[in-house]
Amino acid sequence: MDHFPIFLAVEGRRIVVSGGGEAALAKLRLLLKTTARITVFAAAPEAALRALAAEGRITLVTRALAPGDALCAALFYAANDDAAEDARVTRLARADGALTNWVDNLEASQFITPAIVDRDPVTVAIGTEGAAPVLARAIKADLEARLPASLGLLARIGKGFRRAAEALPMGRKRREFWFEYYFKTGPQALEKDGLDGIGPALDALLARHLSEAPRKGRVDLVGAGPGDPELLTLRARKLLDEADVVIHDRLVSPAILELARREAVMIDAGKKGFGPAMAQDDICALMVEHAAAGAHVVRLKGGDPGVFGRLDEEVEALEAADLDWAVTPGITAASAATAQIGQSLTKRDRNSAARLLTGHDMQGFAEQDWRGLARPGQVAAIYMGLKGARFIQGRLMMHGARADTPVTAVENASRSDARTIATTLGRLAADLEAAALTGPAVLLYGLAPRAAAHALPRLTEELA
Ligand code: SAH
Repeated sequence: MDHFPIFLAVEGRRIVVSGGGEAALAKLRLLLKTTARITVFAAAPEAALRALAAEGRITLVTRALAPGDALCAALFYAANDDAAEDARVTRLARADGALTNWVDNLEASQFITPAIVDRDPVTVAIGTEGAAPVLARAIKADLEARLPASLGLLARIGKGFRRAAEALPMGRKRREFWFEYYFKTGPQALEKDGLDGIGPALDALLARHLSEAPRKGRVDLVGAGPGDPELLTLRARKLLDEADVVIHDRLVSPAILELARREAVMIDAGKKGFGPAMAQDDICALMVEHAAAGAHVVRLKGGDPGVFGRLDEEVEALEAADLDWAVTPGITAASAATAQIGQSLTKRDRNSAARLLTGHDMQGFAEQDWRGLARPGQVAAIYMGLKGARFIQGRLMMHGARADTPVTAVENASRSDARTIATTLGRLAADLEAAALTGPAVLLYGLAPRAAAHALPRLTEELA
């Protein structure tokens, strides 16, 4: 982010514009929405500018900008549509200490003006740092259509009611009250009884919320999928948006955590491979503690919570504490990894079953039904298998698996930094060591990437 978005307090402050033509007028259309005092310098202003001055909406000075003219200005716009003049006035305004914008000249500007969706006091500012004005316009059009015109009105009235609403305890109770006002009670009252209906509706709504018993906390155990935010379920998205507390694994990508409600308490229960982690008991205690205090907790787990996610221990802890809970499934790493290489987990005439295995368990490297797996045509997605790759390779070969059985390691499946290592059982440990994977990876035993599927057993081209 080269430009940091803020909302600048401009009430009663000076904003100075240099320019008397269309560029200046275009900026003025936006600036006139503010409560700033606007002064325009233009040697030959268009009639529209004179009209604004006559209405008292701007101060018009009919000469070119001179040194000192932008003193005490919060913002300055060079809008002369004339590069030499814009360069000159920008220099002067900077010397006067104003923040300067040279219209349509990103590099020479100290700030830029976003596309604006105006539902004052609700204002949406959209910026693309000059990269994609078309995109900004499309987003603006989308929001214009989506945000009801009455939103600003409801917000203004709501603002006057904030003091009264403080009778509700801070946090979720108060949030629920406002949510119902903005998205249900407010619009309904406005439609039915007009402006006069809103006050009584707010009073009634507050009375109801005040008399309601505090809601019990709850825990949603939510699958965050393999990392790409687009692979979240709609429900996961919604729950993240509502959560008071989010307890997440380290596997959950930052892009997904960004989607959580801004006020939510974010707790990293980081569990990654063999590294330091919060003990499972502590995670359970944390969930129970927050939910018992009335919070809506989202326990966010990588992939699907029911696949190597220690879901049952957490559910048991919640049941023991008599708390409400529910599971939201997610896309598991095996699905994301097979999608990544264009293969399917099961395939008619190849394998009518596929297994999800873990490379290690509480005791160390996990023992499996090696004999069964060693048979031709078997497919397995091996989670947490990197450290134990040599062990897995040894066990399978010992039980008669062919050295040219394809194995594909998919690291960071679904993420922009995904990597695919296509190899064979015989070369698995060596190739993985050479690849030095650092992200989470699934080993797809019995599967080669689709493009290379016919080139068996020469599957190591990617490493060569
Ligand atoms: N519940 C998770 C699995 C947790 S166990 C799920 O359903 O996916 C952690 C293991 O999952 C990692 O060691 C790795 O083997 C695998 N994994 C998780 N995310 C992954 C990703 N984006 N790409 C590849 N493997 C991943």
